[in-house]
Amino acid sequence: MTYTHFTVETDADGVALVTWNSPDRSMNVFTEAVLRELAAIVEAVTADAAVEGVVVTSGKPGSFSGGADLKMLEGLLKAFHARKGADPEGAAKALLADVSAMGALFRRIETSGKPWVAAINGTCMGGAFELALACHARVAVDDEGVKMGLPEVKVGIFPGAGGTQRVMRMTDAQGGLTFLLQGQTPGPKKALAQKLIDKVVPAAELVETAKAMIRAGLDPKKPWDKDGFKAPAGKVQSPQGFQFWPAANAIYRRETFDNYPAARAILKVCHDGLQLPMDLALRVEARHFAHVLTTKEAAAMIRSLFVSMQELNKGARRPAGAPATKLRKVGVIGAGFMGAGIAYVSAAAGLDVVLIDQSLEAAEKGRAHSDKLISDRVAKGRAKPADREALLARITATDDYAALAGCDLVVEAVFEDRAVKEAAMAKARAVLPAGAVFASNTSTLPISSLAPNWHAEADFVGIHFFSPVDKMMLVEVIRGRNTGDAAVALALDFVKAIRKTPIVVNDSRGFYANRCVTNYMLEAHLLLTEGVPPAMVETVARMAGMPVGPLSLNDEVAVDLAWKILQAAKKDLGDAAVDPRQEKLLHGMVVERGRLGRKNGKGFYDYPAEKGAKKTLWKGIAEIVGAPKPAEAFDVAELKHRLLAVQALEAARCVEEGVVTDVREADVGSILGFGFAPFTGGTLSWIDGMGAAAFVALCDDLAARHGARFAPPALLREMAEKGETFYGRFAPPAADKAAA
Ligand code: NAD
Repeated sequence: MTYTHFTVETDADGVALVTWNSPDRSMNVFTEAVLRELAAIVEAVTADAAVEGVVVTSGKPGSFSGGADLKMLEGLLKAFHARKGADPEGAAKALLADVSAMGALFRRIETSGKPWVAAINGTCMGGAFELALACHARVAVDDEGVKMGLPEVKVGIFPGAGGTQRVMRMTDAQGGLTFLLQGQTPGPKKALAQKLIDKVVPAAELVETAKAMIRAGLDPKKPWDKDGFKAPAGKVQSPQGFQFWPAANAIYRRETFDNYPAARAILKVCHDGLQLPMDLALRVEARHFAHVLTTKEAAAMIRSLFVSMQELNKGARRPAGAPATKLRKVGVIGAGFMGAGIAYVSAAAGLDVVLIDQSLEAAEKGRAHSDKLISDRVAKGRAKPADREALLARITATDDYAALAGCDLVVEAVFEDRAVKEAAMAKARAVLPAGAVFASNTSTLPISSLAPNWHAEADFVGIHFFSPVDKMMLVEVIRGRNTGDAAVALALDFVKAIRKTPIVVNDSRGFYANRCVTNYMLEAHLLLTEGVPPAMVETVARMAGMPVGPLSLNDEVAVDLAWKILQAAKKDLGDAAVDPRQEKLLHGMVVERGRLGRKNGKGFYDYPAEKGAKKTLWKGIAEIVGAPKPAEAFDVAELKHRLLAVQALEAARCVEEGVVTDVREADVGSILGFGFAPFTGGTLSWIDGMGAAAFVALCDDLAARHGARFAPPALLREMAEKGETFYGRFAPPAADKAAA
């Protein structure tokens, strides 16, 4: 029998090697066709008396499989919603049957009576790792770059093909739950320590080791299918279980504030499933999976954090027709906080980097940042010493602009000062020919106003990074008034090379992300001036789904930066552009008390000097804003709405003004750029989720009580009247989707 996605070769010892290698795909994923073929293979090898056991591996170098094709799940969901109105019971039954198929196939492998071993040659995620868990043993290649695990919770769903049940029967309760709830993707050594895999071997020995396990008589019956099985997680109904599970529930609530149906379901199916025999436990898991899949959180998260993000990463917004550039050498001017980070991510992606600062010493200091980051990775076993040498060899630190010759792109990250930027551009212009593309990482200066300093405005573009550069995945590519398509395309090629997610934004004060996040911090400042206790401000923001409270965030980005931005806005836009209550607070913090944020150990929090000591909210905020009122004086739901609505409103204004032109970018950018409550799917998905009419009503109410900053823009009113959604009215162009 021949297959499209697999080859099956049985050796003289009766070990069948099943190699998964889907044609026309860079990575194997489970689609309906793949599942059908795998099911046929399972039946064939089970029935074939000549087959003693099976090794399953992948034919793709460095990758086993990315798991289930989430577009397949989107398809199931569409079918469910189409049928639900007329036949709710039939729709639910069909969905349950569909989502149960993969788990049933894996269970068939597990109970086939023949041993299966997964030979994990590379990245093994989600459904693919569930397949591996269903096998009777797992061998992985000894390469810490190879990640494996069950990250489904990060896109609003959870492992629904037996993953939760097997993990909880293989590891200790705390380790297993943490693994599932955090969607961890460990390397081989950690996975081995967690008992999720059995062996780690050099690549050349992978398949042979797996075969040898079968020849040595690997038990084809799982421990949990034998009488007297005791899960290492312990019994739920036991004194130890009575201690563990209520605490686990409390931790779950602390971490998620119950915003994530998938996380809640993980806890529930692990708790309930551990008390049941495997087949029943799998049914419980499948039912919860079907339910979670139908939640609006799952739909929004799959769309933004998987589908849209993938489309943007693959170049959905790249101007059509611009030839792709394979960048080799980039220049970074300014080796400070940001420039040093940009140099690191570029060199880590294999690009040669010329890192320039005013003095050789300053440039070397910037290069030392890369040394620190890569050395930390080496120390943690995530990179080899040779990787460190190679990375550092790629960075040339210098004060000589002549070294920029031959760069495919130059990014400046010098002081946020127009004169300094213009001087740096003049020096670069003397070295680089007309036609070379120059980018600025400015946060506040309009790209269009800097562009005339370059050879041609068409070749000048904004590439706006977020700090810390090595961790933050978003990059805003800013199109100035006269920026040409070729420059935008080159900027996107660069962002792709350094493996970050780009959004293309039109020039505007603060671009997109900073406009929204500035509002988040402004609202928090105003809450303080209204007497909301500082701890309540932080907690309510996290309850609303923000990963970091606004006061913590402000301390990280620097309180004096907020002060400077406020002063600049006042100078450029007039007194009415700033709120005097916020001005008074920031003046009190920065000018009167020198509280600049984490960088000087005092901001809204105090940062004790002792290593490991926790920060605590600064008690003196009351000196500036007056004593806080009791928490009971405030309505938590309203505070949550205020903190999210100020951000979502700004996103809607950015769409109305044409600053953001693609709804996918607004959503993905909001989650990756400033952590907008991920369970909502992003700023615009949050509005769509409640409906424009409800959002406008909410904002009108907030505006009546708290001021005009909540007044909905005309676009939203019109959408509310017409019953439109952002994804309906501004549906991403089909051509983009096809190109992606
Ligand atoms: P920084 O002060 O840490 O670094 C600036 C560096 O530029 C310094 O090392 C300085 O010596 C160097 N420099 C100044 N003039 C120079 C010249 N003529 N030639 C070469 N080098 C020169 O500042 P930063 O925080 O890294 O910010 C740099 C830029 O990035 C600014 O435009 C800022 O607005 C922007 N930005 C900052 C952040 C952030 O979070 N800090 C985020 C996004 C963008």
